[in-house]
Amino acid sequence: MTVEQIDIAIIGAGPAGLTAALYASRARASTVVFERGIPGGQIVTTDRVENYPGFPNGVSGAELGDLMTKQAEEFGAIIRTFADVVAIEPADLDFVVRTGDGDEFLAKAVILATGAVPRKLGVPGEAEYTGRGVSWCATCDGALYRDKTVCVIGGGDAAVEEALFLTKFAKKVHLVHRRDELRATKCIQEKCFANEKVEMQWSRVPTEIRGDGSRVTGVLLKSTKGEPDALLELDGVFIFTGIHPASELIGPLTELDEAGYVRIDHDGRTSWPGLYAAGDVTDSELKQVITAAAKGASAAFEALRYIDSRVCSI
Ligand code: NAP
Repeated sequence: MTVEQIDIAIIGAGPAGLTAALYASRARASTVVFERGIPGGQIVTTDRVENYPGFPNGVSGAELGDLMTKQAEEFGAIIRTFADVVAIEPADLDFVVRTGDGDEFLAKAVILATGAVPRKLGVPGEAEYTGRGVSWCATCDGALYRDKTVCVIGGGDAAVEEALFLTKFAKKVHLVHRRDELRATKCIQEKCFANEKVEMQWSRVPTEIRGDGSRVTGVLLKSTKGEPDALLELDGVFIFTGIHPASELIGPLTELDEAGYVRIDHDGRTSWPGLYAAGDVTDSELKQVITAAAKGASAAFEALRYIDSRVCSI
């Protein structure tokens, strides 16, 4: 088997990974991005990104992902889609990056930009009815709920934005939140409260997703304020209760925080020399497209400096 030698391996093709790829390839480093699905990251399933500068009318998440991909490729980055990295192993000063297909790359530096995955609720019915009324992607599945009733679980930016998106199709959207105040950004909240298709279910948590054996028919809600349980009859349940970092790959190599996020310094360095991280997989406070992109740029800049410093010290 041949092992391909490259300068920088980037794991994950979301905004952090694609921006790192843009900076690395523009500096003429041989750069390969490994993406287990399609490029774009979490924004691909976002209907509209309204807070990325340069797009005064917003931009669809899929389009923004596509533009970032093209820009990185323009400068020579190779983006390997459906390439699942299964191991990153230190080899002297380098790293062996191994994919599920058995391909091996020897990289001088690695940038982990694997992002985060949606958190599960862990209630009865969730697993059973996934794909049969339970969804984590309003952009993918929203159109299936034309003139139907759905609920969205969560009170953060994702839940409120996706609830608003679902009002384009559904006749009613229940927004179920465990407190009596939303976490989402105020301007999204205002849009939500002004939308007559959205009905707030304050201070309630789902305890069971019910169905008829083939599809979802309702959700059982428990009050967090001691009110009686309520059964909402509906056709679909969309879950946006936060994210979980996809950090398993480098867990043994570097330090993670108690929630599993990769600890990085200001410039994206992990505690392992030559290993950098950026975006939602890291412990950075603000999790936005713009911060992911900025941290991707910093990580690439530091990785390039690290590679240069190795050449100079030989
Ligand atoms: P999030 O901000 O962590 O919000 C998760 C929501 O789910 C919170 O309201 C939380 O309630 C609730 N929740 C958590 N566990 C729950 C459970 N077991 N049962 C019921 N409710 C539960 O997550 P997110 O909305 O997915 O966003 C993730 C990150 O991406 C955030 O930093 C967010 O700002 C960012 N993001 C930004 C945009 C944007 O700027 N346009 C869009 C999407 C996401 P509590 O409020 O009570 O904790």
